[in-house]
Amino acid sequence: MNAWREWKDAEPAEFAVIGDPIDHSLSPQMHSAAARALGLGFRYIALRVPRGEVAEAFRHLAALGYRGVNVTVPHKEETFRAMREVEPFAQRVQAVNTVRLPELRGTNTDGPGFLETLAHLALSKDSRVLVLGAGGAALAVVASLADAGFQPTVFNRTRSRAEEMLQRLGVKAQIVDAPDPAGCSLVVNSTSAGLHGERLPIDWAKAEPSAVAYDLVYGREPTPFLCSAAAHGLRTVDGLHLLVVQGALSLEWWLGVEAPRRAMLESLQW
Ligand code: NDP
Repeated sequence: MNAWREWKDAEPAEFAVIGDPIDHSLSPQMHSAAARALGLGFRYIALRVPRGEVAEAFRHLAALGYRGVNVTVPHKEETFRAMREVEPFAQRVQAVNTVRLPELRGTNTDGPGFLETLAHLALSKDSRVLVLGAGGAALAVVASLADAGFQPTVFNRTRSRAEEMLQRLGVKAQIVDAPDPAGCSLVVNSTSAGLHGERLPIDWAKAEPSAVAYDLVYGREPTPFLCSAAAHGLRTVDGLHLLVVQGALSLEWWLGVEAPRRAMLESLQW
């Protein structure tokens, strides 16, 4: 468990991450490493904010002199509604993970961060990409893939949620009734199944040998999704790199300087 406080007990600092629960957050250690690498003396802390208290927490933090806040589960939509202004991508997915104070200006670095993590996979735009999930993370993934010119295919346990997601995004994509990896270059797990060690019904034996399995969840142990893909000899990517890149993009939006991605990643080695 990492150090955190209730938002009403926050001490003056420059930056924070809010969520509920927040005890698992790696953001303070990652951003503190960035502050050291940049030679900047800012403090970044973790605060628990219960549902329904997000707007009040932002007012309090702004009064304490905070300049920026990262937002994690379950507050990205509540934060979107609490903003005075939002950047276009955040408007599109109606979720904010990065806030500038005291302006109450919001952005979303999950989608752009996800695209940055794909760069080293060198996928062609006609690659078939299967996205699993239809929650907040899937919205950012599907919107950013579509914006980058991919045509994702979507599977979600609850089909109607996938339909709502595509309608909300204005993206035309195929929805499938089973997570079939056949013919896919990339399969992105943006469900939270791995958080609880739950298995998704994927038959990796059907996948191309060159396919990549990417799980947005990260942890000390690989998720069941990544374990089963690796057991079939496939390349795997977990969500740690995305955690670093979305955090780096937040820092760059707040400070206007290039974020030290390597130092941030190295601070997270288990
Ligand atoms: P949501 O709660 O909004 O959505 C959860 C999704 O997972 C839904 O599509 C849900 O399906 C699906 N799901 C949950 N359990 C199962 C299961 N057992 N089998 C099949 N599908 C399941 O969560 P988010 O979208 O906000 O987040 C998803 C994950 O992505 C989280 O674990 C989060 O930690 C991670 N994430 C990681 C980031 C990073 O930086 N690495 C950034 C953002 C998110 P249904 O609709 O049927 O309920």
